[in-house]
Amino acid sequence: MDKIILGKTGIVSDKNGFGALPMQRVSEAQAGVLLTKAYDSGITLFDTARMYSDSEKKIGVHLSGVRKNITLTTKTMAHGADGFWRDLHTSLTMLKTDCIDVYQLHNPPFCPKPGDESGLYDALLEAKREGKIRFIGITNHSIFVAEEAVQSGLYDTLQFPLSYLSTERETALVQLCKAHNVGFIAMKALCGGLITNAAAAYAYLNQPDFDTVVPIWGIQHESELDEFIAYRHNPPALTADLQKVIARDRAELAGNFCRGCGYCMPTCPAEIQINNCARMIQLIRRSPSAQWLTSEMQSAMRNIENCTECGTCRTKCPYGIDTPTLLKENLADYEAIVAGKTTI
Ligand code: SF4
Ligand code: SF4
Repeated sequence: MDKIILGKTGIVSDKNGFGALPMQRVSEAQAGVLLTKAYDSGITLFDTARMYSDSEKKIGVHLSGVRKNITLTTKTMAHGADGFWRDLHTSLTMLKTDCIDVYQLHNPPFCPKPGDESGLYDALLEAKREGKIRFIGITNHSIFVAEEAVQSGLYDTLQFPLSYLSTERETALVQLCKAHNVGFIAMKALCGGLITNAAAAYAYLNQPDFDTVVPIWGIQHESELDEFIAYRHNPPALTADLQKVIARDRAELAGNFCRGCGYCMPTCPAEIQINNCARMIQLIRRSPSAQWLTSEMQSAMRNIENCTECGTCRTKCPYGIDTPTLLKENLADYEAIVAGKTTI
């Protein structure tokens, strides 16, 4: 089984990490089943965040007994030192540990540095001095912030979206991290659900170019976990058939498309479910369509008509997407599908 050294941290991880965001959507008992099975199968890196509601708590409950055998990475979205310390203490309590292996700043809109106004980096250094964290990481969706963070030499790890739909510049981050000995944790290897062929996603990231990357697979169902465990033993090869899948997906999803990250959402005055509605047509085409055509989903889509064009979502989208326009395009196509005027 492939092992990865996470850059200058020296942490040795199994090639597959466990992305624990979906733990907030499953029951306590189901979380126990998944986390324990993942650990028993050899997965050692578990990534969570303060903002994933009770995900940290479930990890603490089910994995604290094997704490010394695993790597815990979590994150804070705090804007300043007060929030940072509040989050860190809560995370330590929830995870039932006295030290977090990699503590990451969660998608800050800039690259925090020592002595800056936010005080975030100084707080990270203090937490490290106090032994509450071992290493300093950053997560981001902005290529600009990510590149600056890696080049700054201030961060031990970078967590960034990486999949076969990534751009050349995004993919080049892997080599940049290698050159600076920064660990690379890859999120969204399934591109927020738009990649539906897990074997293709796995085979792509299993190439020698990515031998320093630890993908964290967001796992909600036992069948998904079983699939990734099976891949650990028998990694799918990048066959001609899978290459065709990748080429087709790249052609279909080229250009600006919503990755479903949700960073634009909490402040939408019309409470539009942007992370689903702005990519609805892709979701309908690429996953079982019935779930996207229910009466609840039709109401959610029609709520796009209440968009005030305030533009807040556009300014918050790390991919520079013209979100209000994309929403309206999706609504027009959706109405045509619902009315039977077009085929899926
Ligand atoms: S532009 Fe529309 S979708 Fe975007 S935040 Fe404003 S109301 Fe919501
Ligand atoms: S519009 Fe942008 S910020 Fe909003 S969910 Fe999609 S990709 Fe994320």
